[in-house]
Amino acid sequence: MQQALSQTDSTPLVVRPPANQDEALRLAQRAHLLELRYGGLDGTALLDAAINEIFTGRIAVVSSFGTESAVLLDLVAQVNRHTPVIFLETGKHFPETLAYRDTLIARLGLTDVRSVGPAPDDLAWADRDGTLWHRGPDLCCHLRKVLPLERALSGFSAWINGRKRYQGGQRRQIGHFEAAESRIKVNPLANWDTAALARAFVARDLPRHPLGAQGYPSVGCAPCTSKSDGATGSRAGRWADSGKVECGIHQTPVSAPGSTKGLR
Ligand code: SF4
Repeated sequence: MQQALSQTDSTPLVVRPPANQDEALRLAQRAHLLELRYGGLDGTALLDAAINEIFTGRIAVVSSFGTESAVLLDLVAQVNRHTPVIFLETGKHFPETLAYRDTLIARLGLTDVRSVGPAPDDLAWADRDGTLWHRGPDLCCHLRKVLPLERALSGFSAWINGRKRYQGGQRRQIGHFEAAESRIKVNPLANWDTAALARAFVARDLPRHPLGAQGYPSVGCAPCTSKSDGATGSRAGRWADSGKVECGIHQTPVSAPGSTKGLR
């Protein structure tokens, strides 16, 4: 069942303070050790370890309910369909995405999908006419995604997301575990490619996002998503004709001393 979080406890436009350096390095060390111990796992095996062993009761999934999201959500549901799922309801989504969210909730039996929105005070201050996406997309993403996610993750030690290395850009080097701000980020599909995703859709008879068949390889907020032939990658059409490639919820991770990844 979908739950609506209260918007009244939100703090307007508070930028997260930089993590304490010692704490950041401790978390990076932990991510490195988790990678060494569990990094050989994949898909449901990795999710089972993360949800039922490492972060029991302290982990959530973050999903955009986009064109590839059904695969990760299906794997999570196989492990524990009561796992909290956070959907950033920016108020700018295509109606098809909201309908698809509800379709997947019913199809997968997800019981704890939380649609979280921006703070009304933030929008009243910065986006009264609803055009901030055009005037200042980074601030728009910050108010509509980054801050709501930070509030929604309060009380969680880790979060699961669906990024894959094949998507390129900053995602090309991700491992299965990352230090992210004050939490561990888990990437169960890091190794998956388009063929593996396609096989999962068929094998599990998963419904597709309706806009995928209409020329949208990737679907985010409506004003910032365009049709594309996908020639420039699976995220083609997002913030097209601008230099923006990420919304800001995926910060650059810090690596542990001795890690082969280095700071990036
Ligand atoms: S993707 Fe576009 S509309 Fe959505 S929060 Fe970011 S800038 Fe705003």
